[in-house]
Amino acid sequence: MNKELLKKIPKVDDLLRRSELEIYIVKFGREMVKETIQDGITKLRQEVLLNKITIDITENGVIDYACSTLDRKEKSGLKRVINATGVVLHTNLGRARISESAQEKLLEVAFGYSNLEYDLTTGKRGSRYQVIEKDLISLSHSEAGFVVNNNAAAVLLALSTIAKGKEIIISRGELVEIGGSFRIPEIIELSGGIIKEVGTTNKTKIEDYAKAINENTGAILKVHTSNYKVVGFTESVAIDQLASLAREHDLPLVNDLGSGLFYSLEDLGLPPEPTVSQAIESGCDIVTFSGDKLLGGPQSGLIVGKKVLIEKMKKNQLTRTLRIDKLSLAVLEQTLKAYLQPDHGHETIPIIRALKQGVTELEIRGNKLSDQLKGNNALSVNLLEDCSQVGGGSFPEVTLPTICVTVSSMNISCHDFSEQLRQCDIPVVCRIKDNQLVFDMRTVQDDELVDLGLAIKKVLKIIK
Ligand SMILES: *Cc1c(COP(=O)(O)O)cnc(C)c1O
Repeated sequence: MNKELLKKIPKVDDLLRRSELEIYIVKFGREMVKETIQDGITKLRQEVLLNKITIDITENGVIDYACSTLDRKEKSGLKRVINATGVVLHTNLGRARISESAQEKLLEVAFGYSNLEYDLTTGKRGSRYQVIEKDLISLSHSEAGFVVNNNAAAVLLALSTIAKGKEIIISRGELVEIGGSFRIPEIIELSGGIIKEVGTTNKTKIEDYAKAINENTGAILKVHTSNYKVVGFTESVAIDQLASLAREHDLPLVNDLGSGLFYSLEDLGLPPEPTVSQAIESGCDIVTFSGDKLLGGPQSGLIVGKKVLIEKMKKNQLTRTLRIDKLSLAVLEQTLKAYLQPDHGHETIPIIRALKQGVTELEIRGNKLSDQLKGNNALSVNLLEDCSQVGGGSFPEVTLPTICVTVSSMNISCHDFSEQLRQCDIPVVCRIKDNQLVFDMRTVQDDELVDLGLAIKKVLKIIK
């Protein structure tokens, strides 16, 4: 039986002559089209052997398979998506969106030559870090500022420069994993430092740190446990207490703040978090934080603190391997400028604006979307009061009141509906709740509403 079927499988060369493939050969080249057809035939052969055939055993069947595979290939790759999840800092959707003024700077620097490492006054070689140093110093109230590729790199560079071959004292409650693969113990090991754990998971006291100090201690490390909270019977040491201990023993205190804020976000209803300047004022020698979390800038790792230590970091060979590129630097420069503007200038930063939006504003947006969708018997559209999340491992326990548009249709399951929305030309990512699709208006922009409405209508076949 199988043998008969196997004989029916078409030949590659016959298929390659088919006119349907001509445009694909022009687009992708003959080799890639041939490979795709061969893949289709291999898949078909396996399906015959397993008796589970999904591809039609005809020339047309294999051609259809090849064309749809190539169509998908063309559509894959990095692209803009509409984030309707309500997670403001969505790590999988590119974290922070950048501001309009940063976009302009980005284009200017990307398309032309720039004074990236050129001093226009002297006509000699300059430093790429000079554009952000002053602003970083003003915003953090510290002696010096520096930037690398991301915060993981910042922690690595700081520890490698300060405590290579030496013991790094850290509380057991702070040996955390952040994001997919950033683990503090592993970063310490990579830096060449030796982990000296103190205290317990839930309680660490100042005496625990004091007892651990010896002649081979290189630094005390404090890590902000951004993405979870230990509650109940807990104790940790305040940063100023750690700073006094470090000073007494002439040891550097390094603080990985994670998200890093220049201003408190308490007026947006968020709980208090230490700001960068507070950490410096409490006596930290080095503070590191991300550029693309709550700061709302590009992927980058900012380092502020003591000038002598930062000068040493600049000379570390690792700096070259961890260095920030010019496009991120251009965006970072503009982001810092926004924070320096008077009268809440930082509220032009999209992430801050997204967090600040109130329910009234979100309801107006929700109504605009539901107006686009109304008048179709095939679907049910409603507004829903729900909760958004900050995301990016920040404020894990906080929820922000929001307005969502819920959509459901008898003609399609939620699973298929959401899957097809992700396959649209501008893919849409949303939540599913109580058998409905939920589009959170906090993370959707006004200028995305038309595309979002069109995507929903296309999937539901209300329009072509
Ligand atoms: C997010 C985070 C990091 C990693 O920062 P990236 O910029 O993503 O490399 C490191 N430490 C803490 C505490 C964090 O929250």
